[in-house]
Amino acid sequence: MAKRKSKAIIRSTVEIMRERAAARAKQLRKAKANLKKATAVRSVKLKKAAAAKSNVVKKLGPRKFTPDQLEYFKKIIVEKRRDTIEELDTLKESMMDVTTGEYVSESSTYSLHMEQGTDAMEREKTFLFASRGSKFVSQLDDALARLESGTYGVCKVCQLLIPKERLEAVPTAQTCAEYKNTNKPCERGRIALGKKQ
Ligand SMILES: [Zn+2]
Repeated sequence: MAKRKSKAIIRSTVEIMRERAAARAKQLRKAKANLKKATAVRSVKLKKAAAAKSNVVKKLGPRKFTPDQLEYFKKIIVEKRRDTIEELDTLKESMMDVTTGEYVSESSTYSLHMEQGTDAMEREKTFLFASRGSKFVSQLDDALARLESGTYGVCKVCQLLIPKERLEAVPTAQTCAEYKNTNKPCERGRIALGKKQ
């Protein structure tokens, strides 16, 4: 009687152990399946993130001009500088007093030509052109310095490259056209700055 009972206990213990082993195996399979699923989800997420990043990179454009492009901009700047200096020299000549061979200052021109209104106005215009011209030369000098230091063509606002067409038209530009006109970063700039708007 006692022997049969102990046999029954042994059998049930074996069964319990079997059930536990089966449950553990099931758990393990479930865990493995979950892991596989999670890995797949993560890999899709990573792929999506990489694709999004590459789209952004494409949209933002290259981060640096090639040496050839920089050389091309340098040529434009040097030519503009030379042309402007030539114009300035011509203007200076026209401002020179023929009798004394000295430059006529703005105030003396004004007093000398009080009666000759048109002449005075012409001279004033000449001075205005000359001051604009020399300001432009110093801006071109700054642009050349930026070429030397490797910061030429980088927008001060969004840190992206200013479009080539803009630099061709305005080689002294230090920001994208949109910022210059609206005081707000351009679409690329907003992406680069991480602003949604
Ligand atoms: Zn910009």
